[in-house]
Formats: sequence, C-alpha cells, structure tokens
Amino acid sequence: MAFELPALPYAKDALEPHIDARTMEIHHGKHHNGYTNKLNAAIAGTDLEGKSIEDILANVSQYSGGVRNNGGGFYNHSLFWTSMSPSGGGEPTDRMNIKKAIDRDFGSFEAFKKEFAAAAGTRFGSGWAWLCVDSDDKLFVCSTPNQDNPLMDVVPEDGKPILGLDVWEHAYYLNYQNRRPDYVQAFFNVIDWAVVSKRYNDANPGASDFS
Ligand code: MN
Repeated sequence: MAFELPALPYAKDALEPHIDARTMEIHHGKHHNGYTNKLNAAIAGTDLEGKSIEDILANVSQYSGGVRNNGGGFYNHSLFWTSMSPSGGGEPTDRMNIKKAIDRDFGSFEAFKKEFAAAAGTRFGSGWAWLCVDSDDKLFVCSTPNQDNPLMDVVPEDGKPILGLDVWEHAYYLNYQNRRPDYVQAFFNVIDWAVVSKRYNDANPGASDFS
C-alpha cells in the first residue's frame, strides 16, 4: 500500500493573508506531492512497503538518503497542514492541557513563543522548527535541518512532534521573500491549538482536555 498525499483540510486561500494561496498550491501540490511520490519510489520492492511512516522514521539510519529525505518530507508536511486552521491563532485556552504544559515547561506562552521563533529564525538554510514531547512528557523546542524530524534515530533530541513549522524558502518566499521572521510571526496567527493540545494528550495516556 503506497503512501498517499493527504488532501489539504481547508481551501488553498483559507490561511490568507498569513499564508497565500499560490504558496499553498505549489507547496502542497508540487513539493509535498513530490516527497510522497519519491518516498513510494524509494521503498518500492523493499521490506519497507506496508510499514507505517513512524516505523520507517524511527529506524531511518538504516535506510537510503532517499527514504530519509522523502519520508521526512511526507511526514513533516502532513503534520504541518493539520497544525494550522483559518480559525486558529491566539493562545491555547485554559481548558486545553497544552496551556498548562506550556506554562509548566516554558514559564509562559510568551516565553514559549520566543523560544520557538528563535529556533525557526536561527535554523540556517532549510529545515523545520518543532514543539515536541519527550519520553517524560515534557515539552521542548528544537529545530532540524532539511526534512529531518525528531522521530528519526539520526537527530540529537528524540521526541514526538506536536507542532512543526516549515522554514524552507519554498514555504514563504513568494509572499515574504527573505523576511523569514515575518513568516514565523504570521504562523502564530493560524496555529490550531485544539489540534496541538490533542496531540499532546495523545502522547500522554489517559489525558484529555477539559470540556
Ligand atoms: Mn515544505
């Protein structure tokens, strides 16, 4: 069973003015589609066919560069689209566990935002910034080069990513040119904290948001 490009969960122009429709069209339809097709080509006829993407990434040091780059590209963008929503932005609400966890592990939402923006802004060249949960259920921010991510056994900080920001130029150049910090700030206007909080809960057996 080959991996399939997931459909965008909203219209291409739904995140405007923060992320423009043309960027979404190319980013999803060309870049993410390309990673998906190349991942399928890289695993065709190997024993990786039929494995979950998480299993593949957890042992990616054993596989080819094509599996690492395109498996990462497939997974990372799938997480990225679903981390955003036209009704997103702002801060997590009091009933979301992620709010308590951010306050506990960063001190405040503003402190988290500053650390995340710094990780995104200082990643040299292409890569990603992440908010992750470690094996002790603690949150941490990190960044990775290229299409690597914290699920891979090749990165220094292991964790489960619950929020990711693509800082490749293809993610922002049409609208923001070289102004990556403006793009990073705009991302905060579309983060879907309900989804991020659910991912945090899913990494913590038994946890759920207050309703
Ligand atoms: Mn991308």
